[in-house]
Amino acid sequence: MIEERVGEILRELPSTVELVAATKSRSVAEILEAIAGGVKIIGENYVQEAEEKLKQIGRCAQWHLLGHLQKNKVKKAVEIFDLMQSLDSLEIAAEIDKRASGLNRLVPVFIEVNSAAEKQKFGFLPDEVEEAVREISKFKNLKIMGLMTLGPDSKSAQDLRPYFQATYKIFQRIKEMSLSNVQMRYLSMGMSDSYRVAIEAGANMVRLGRAIFSDRYGR
Ligand SMILES: *Cc1c(COP(=O)(O)O)cnc(C)c1O
Repeated sequence: MIEERVGEILRELPSTVELVAATKSRSVAEILEAIAGGVKIIGENYVQEAEEKLKQIGRCAQWHLLGHLQKNKVKKAVEIFDLMQSLDSLEIAAEIDKRASGLNRLVPVFIEVNSAAEKQKFGFLPDEVEEAVREISKFKNLKIMGLMTLGPDSKSAQDLRPYFQATYKIFQRIKEMSLSNVQMRYLSMGMSDSYRVAIEAGANMVRLGRAIFSDRYGR
């Protein structure tokens, strides 16, 4: 069933939109089914959970970090993840840079945008993003490849549209600046309930959990 659902989703998505399977709390067996269905990117929220799964699954897919990173987990995270979508502070950026330099790695990152300026959420506020990108672009061992946002918790996808549109505007504006060491290539937004709206608003990467893994999820 997981394999079929991934197939359906991949057929539905425009060819310019990348699919990330959000795999937190999903088993290795479930993730392997998703990979068999065509998933190329696995998104995990927690370093330790990803580490255990990586041991069993290996690098037949890319590993992206989707969750908030604590400083004491950065070293391990740099070893595990091909890309970090949830970079949300200069302090963590500096730590990633330091650890990546030790491993001689260039770590691709997305800057997380707290698009609804919610107290309980991580990420840079919309009007802080440009400055954050300028600062983070100075780190030699990081490469900014895009933006990621969650948007507010909301019952309806339509309520998220203005936040997705606002994030797209920031994305475009920064892209047009052509800053050195910044490649605004990916805009990661949209989850199972909201990915269609996110794509209409300009997302070219969506992160789906329940739409792939849950039998009870009616898309
Ligand atoms: C869980 C999660 C998703 C997927 O959520 P679904 O509603 O299950 O599609 C996407 N992005 C992040 C950051 C998540 O934590």
